[in-house]
Amino acid sequence: MRNLKKNDLKAKNLKTPDLKAKNLTAQTLKACPICGGTMQYFAPEAVNICPYCYFKSLDEPLKEGRASHDIKVTPPKFFSKYIQNVESHYETTIQENLEPSYDIGLTNLKLITSDFMLPFQKDINSFFKARYASLERGGFLILSVPVEGIFFKAPPLTGQINILRSKNIMFLLERNGFKLVRRSMPFGWIVYLIAQKI
Ligand SMILES: [Zn+2]
Repeated sequence: MRNLKKNDLKAKNLKTPDLKAKNLTAQTLKACPICGGTMQYFAPEAVNICPYCYFKSLDEPLKEGRASHDIKVTPPKFFSKYIQNVESHYETTIQENLEPSYDIGLTNLKLITSDFMLPFQKDINSFFKARYASLERGGFLILSVPVEGIFFKAPPLTGQINILRSKNIMFLLERNGFKLVRRSMPFGWIVYLIAQKI
């Protein structure tokens, strides 16, 4: 993961880190919550970008963007089939969407469906830890996440604080005790994933 060249950032037309602009010191630079790398700060966009996994986090939630509840979250047909299969086996379904929150307040759940939650989580690892704690062993976590890729880019969302790549999500799942069961093809700006608590 660390073999990416510095030039990769230049190639993406990013501006040089402007630490003086915000009077930042090395201490204020953030560690990437996904891979632990030192994130680079870019002004004036006030965005922190990890040069290793390309995770981006904004200093402040976006004020202008699309409202996430206006976006229809519809998995591709072939993928809906897998989701329905999981859902048909389990009665306990927590369906959560759009609201940033960590704790569910319930335990031993068999299935949690989280639509479009990740862009809004200030502490993205705590989000996964809380869902891990709420699920029973073998329980399912179904996610839909707007992502940035080479060919597709999710539109900015009001209140968004994280900009993720689908690779970032796999890493977060793995890091927080989930195994990936299935994910949609990476050809759209929404990625759908089914994961299971190990
Ligand atoms: Zn990273």
